[in-house]
Amino acid sequence: MEKHTLNSHYDVIIVGSGPAGLGAAFKLAENSTLSILLIEKKKISSGGLRNDCKQNYTYPVGFPCEHWSKEEADALLIEVATHLHPKIEPKINLEKYINRAKKIGVEILSIDQAHVGTDKSSALIGDLIEKLKSLHVSIALKTEVKEVSEKRKHITLEDGTNIGFDTLILAPGRADYDWLQAQMDRLGIVYHDNIVDIGVRIETREENYPIVRDYYDPKILFPKKVRTFCTNSGCAHIVREKYKGYYSINGHSLSRENERNNLVNFAMLKTIRLTEPVVSGQQFGKILGEMVMQLSGGSVIMQRVGDFRMGVRSKMETFNNDLYDFEPTLNSAVAGDLSLCMPAKILRDIWKSLKMLDTIIPGVLHPSTIIYYPEIKTYSNKPEFIDKHFCVKEGYYIIGDGAGTSRGITAAWASGIRAAQGILKERT
Ligand SMILES: Cc1cc2nc3c(=O)[nH]c(=O)nc-3n(C[C@H](O)[C@H](O)[C@H](O)COP(=O)(O)OP(=O)(O)OC[C@H]3O[C@@H](n4cnc5c(N)ncnc54)[C@H](O)[C@@H]3O)c2cc1C
Repeated sequence: MEKHTLNSHYDVIIVGSGPAGLGAAFKLAENSTLSILLIEKKKISSGGLRNDCKQNYTYPVGFPCEHWSKEEADALLIEVATHLHPKIEPKINLEKYINRAKKIGVEILSIDQAHVGTDKSSALIGDLIEKLKSLHVSIALKTEVKEVSEKRKHITLEDGTNIGFDTLILAPGRADYDWLQAQMDRLGIVYHDNIVDIGVRIETREENYPIVRDYYDPKILFPKKVRTFCTNSGCAHIVREKYKGYYSINGHSLSRENERNNLVNFAMLKTIRLTEPVVSGQQFGKILGEMVMQLSGGSVIMQRVGDFRMGVRSKMETFNNDLYDFEPTLNSAVAGDLSLCMPAKILRDIWKSLKMLDTIIPGVLHPSTIIYYPEIKTYSNKPEFIDKHFCVKEGYYIIGDGAGTSRGITAAWASGIRAAQGILKERT
């Protein structure tokens, strides 16, 4: 939609077309005649839905327990599924892994999952956007919201256009945490520091991590708040994502129709909750990311497990030698020394968890296995909500990963539904 075709006022404006924004838009459009504008700064809609698009349908994966009970999450997950039409992946042989894990104090969650794949998610998103249009939702892509004005109840776009609203939903995701923070300051919304997840991404041959043949994205919880996250297999590869001042690693895989590369990648993340005197988990994450930029000459670090065990850095000249018999899928990563750039406490807890994982699934710490660093998940500072619909003040809602109300696609969508339920209660 061109900007000149936008109205000067909408009943509801939603900023951000990730799963949280979409969840809110569908709920409102299907249950009211409110005029709705969904604004997205990118040229294609849908934030994180456009990535690998694994959907988790079992509580508590993705649902921060401080905001969600199992009953609340389960009820909304049914509704999320009516839009995303998941094909749940089979899970087999889980008992043997669960029992092995239990013996060493590790928990394996049995989660219902569906996987779309990076190559197929655009079609899913295209369908969702067409449906929203048919429900008379106005959609403005390539349109960035610069700031929110409470006094005049309008948003200002990058080109200076002002658009008024009765109700505003902010769903900017976690990459734009600083933008959200600035808007919360402008609106006088009280917020608190949030957690940050710091960790590594492992890449290995599928034969070294065969659990993925039985369970697509194994959710494994270790002591000291370490967990596996976002496993990719089949046709899997690693990417680096640009944040402000650093790169963070992430993983993708393509749908089953693609030729397999027989590699697996997954993250091992440790959740860090800082207390006084440090005030910002996000800043901490950023500083760690910047340090890796320094040490890698502007990229991310990778090290073979064999080198790491020997206490020597990996080198580009020998990275693919001898036993190190598969090439990294992220070839812009720089061979280096993990222990030089990772805080000791984080490295210790993650390495211990990896050794536990190797006890449950022997082989994952094969010398050829690659450890990439850093994988950093920041969240915005958590707003103080005044009700369970993620309302922060009358007429203002903040939802999705950026607000700490979710940590994944399905939960983000559910947070959008919940905000919409609050608005519908108020407005209809
Ligand atoms: C590479 C990658 C792979 C992932 N894989 C999975 C997975 O397989 N399964 C899973 O559950 N989760 C996955 N995630 C996490 C998942 O993407 C997020 O949990 C989810 O997308 C959060 O939804 P959201 O709506 O809160 O934010 P987002 O999806 O980030 O959407 C926010 C949107 O708001 C837009 N925006 C921000 N600021 C503005 C502004 N000022 N004006 C206009 N628009 C704005 C952004 O461009 C963005 O499109 C992955 C994330 C990444 C990065």
